[in-house]
Amino acid sequence: MKIPKTIDELQEDLKKKKYSATELVRYYIERIKKYDKKINSFLTVSEEYAYSKAKAVDKIISNNKNFFNEFPLLGTVVAHKDLFLTEGIRTTAGSRVLSSYVPSYSATVCKRIEKAGAIMIGKVNCDAWAHGASGENSDFGPTKNPWNIRFVPGGSSSGSAASVSSGFATFSTGTDTGGSIRQPASFNNLVGLKPTYGAVSRYGVIAMASSLDCVGHLTKSVRDSKTIFDVVRGVDGKDSTVVNSKFQIPSSKLMKIGIPKEYFDVGIDGEVQKNVYSAIDVFRNAGYEIAEISLPHTKYGVATYYIIQTAETSSNLSRYDGIRYGEYRDKFGDEAKRRIMLGTYVLSAGYYDAYYLKATKVRSKIIEDFRKVFDLEGIDAIIAPVSPSPPFKLEERTDDPLKMYLSDILTVNASLAGLPSLAVPCGFSKNGLPIGFQIIGPKFSEYTLFKLGEFYQSQNNWINKEPDLEE
Ligand code: GLN
Repeated sequence: MKIPKTIDELQEDLKKKKYSATELVRYYIERIKKYDKKINSFLTVSEEYAYSKAKAVDKIISNNKNFFNEFPLLGTVVAHKDLFLTEGIRTTAGSRVLSSYVPSYSATVCKRIEKAGAIMIGKVNCDAWAHGASGENSDFGPTKNPWNIRFVPGGSSSGSAASVSSGFATFSTGTDTGGSIRQPASFNNLVGLKPTYGAVSRYGVIAMASSLDCVGHLTKSVRDSKTIFDVVRGVDGKDSTVVNSKFQIPSSKLMKIGIPKEYFDVGIDGEVQKNVYSAIDVFRNAGYEIAEISLPHTKYGVATYYIIQTAETSSNLSRYDGIRYGEYRDKFGDEAKRRIMLGTYVLSAGYYDAYYLKATKVRSKIIEDFRKVFDLEGIDAIIAPVSPSPPFKLEERTDDPLKMYLSDILTVNASLAGLPSLAVPCGFSKNGLPIGFQIIGPKFSEYTLFKLGEFYQSQNNWINKEPDLEE
């Protein structure tokens, strides 16, 4: 069975009855059984559930082929990050604390995706509580990068990325607090959307750091990313940070793209620079105006993020007190404990002003940097690398938390500013590992990012390359 890469093509096949949704699910399940032992992307395969949904989908399709207009995700197969609550199906957050937790309701995003016709195939691995940039903090063992299993798939949405690039699902959901969708997407040759803070409901998604958490998804194409965004965005009445904002309508003229010099400074791997510069050339050659810009507070991003994020994390994790959801607090892993301690420290009397309060002020400076380029310099969108290096080797950074934290240097600033950012694949390193770039825009400019991303993929589509799982 040859499964196409995008939602449109998949639905075309289903319409033409090349295969049924049930056959599609069987194909994925068999593939997971055959190959996931070495990738470790799934924590729970919801086989029975998937077959029963597939049966329902097949019934809908046989009744009326036009249902594809009514159900935009009809027949697609989704893997949810194990941070998303799924009614009746175990949800662990990648942590032993929740190893036997079965939620009594589903996250808004899971419900909306299901209502649009998608079939959930299972729950995928992640760094415990979404703390990490490599997938190695999962209490259920690290996920491996399908492009080379000696390398990390990125994190924290490690299983979300590895499952889609391994061909175990059509798309996956993820969360991005400081880069956890964009970085694993770019380590796996995928498109990853971190929406504007407040564009998508987080109801039913286990919280990491509440002023930063965003819910998004990983796909092969930008067009699919847009299709899913249309389904999940908007007010649900259950997450008060969500607003039904007017989304920016993409400009019909050639836009002005800013290249932040701080994102290409020393410390960025040469191959990453080269590939991202070639992506920029695609826009330049098509007549887009490319301007060098400066975001001078970029260098304070990691320090600011790791104060604000740990403060909020320590507060959010206090609800796991051994009484309500699962196991005792001694089941927390090292990284969660580190963040609880750091966060408690920066919030404690005597240190609050010196660390937490100061970090919130620097955050304002970072927000202001972006505002200046978008509002005063007329920049429509920013293009930059996602990660300072291609995927790194397993265990390369596990002994040194600071080194791991520095993996986030190019993603945390958009998070601190609440801006949308779309990661798009732009090639491979010499040893065959994926590299991506990100397009960052002003708040609620998602459709501008999609337009730019779709243009890039129309010129240079790397998604036709696939990892070889037989190796
Ligand atoms: N790597 C970052 C961290 O560990 C980002 C995590 C995330 O976005 N969930 O905090």
